[in-house]
Amino acid sequence: MSGLLLVISGPSGAGKTTIAREVEKAFEDAVFSVSVTTRARTVKDREGVDYRFVSEDEFDRMVGEGELLEWAGVFERRYGTPRGPVEDALARGKLVILEIDVRGAGQVKEKMAGMYGVFVLPPSEEELLRRLRDRQREDEQTIQKRFREATREIEEAKAGGVYDAFVVNDDLERAVAETVGLVRLRRG
Ligand code: 5GP
Repeated sequence: MSGLLLVISGPSGAGKTTIAREVEKAFEDAVFSVSVTTRARTVKDREGVDYRFVSEDEFDRMVGEGELLEWAGVFERRYGTPRGPVEDALARGKLVILEIDVRGAGQVKEKMAGMYGVFVLPPSEEELLRRLRDRQREDEQTIQKRFREATREIEEAKAGGVYDAFVVNDDLERAVAETVGLVRLRRG
């Protein structure tokens, strides 16, 4: 199978991280791109696996030296994709998975026309709001902010022409199977 750059995006609460990790498990040669971020590490985060946590200065340095394939500010923090590991893995014919936001995906599309973009949608706006509340991670004000951000991101994704497929996460197993099927088809 040939190399493929797979970009998975979606609003928080849509289940994109779970889907991205399940797709990673489904392909023997999958490589998950570990982003750098300036956001604070939480107890759930595994350093070097989920993210590489860097200082604002280190992030500035990486931007300045052109080490990032793309980067964007999300919720007042910066996130970026280190270029080297992505290019190396693609050169070796691997499936490279990027879980990044809509603006980052737009930047990747401009640089790497062959990218395959999948946008994960919640079944409905009501369900998205319910899932954001269920996480009990944030206060209502923050939940409302995330919800507005999510609806804006969905509109942007639908209008942008960056994504090749929209997968509705109504049922996790089904959504994973659909995404895996799409990737298989694309790789040929
Ligand atoms: P979280 O902090 O909840 O893990 O992620 C917040 C948002 O940042 C998500 O929408 C996620 O897709 C996005 N994100 C994570 N890594 C990157 C990256 O390297 N680049 C860009 N552009 N967005 C990222």
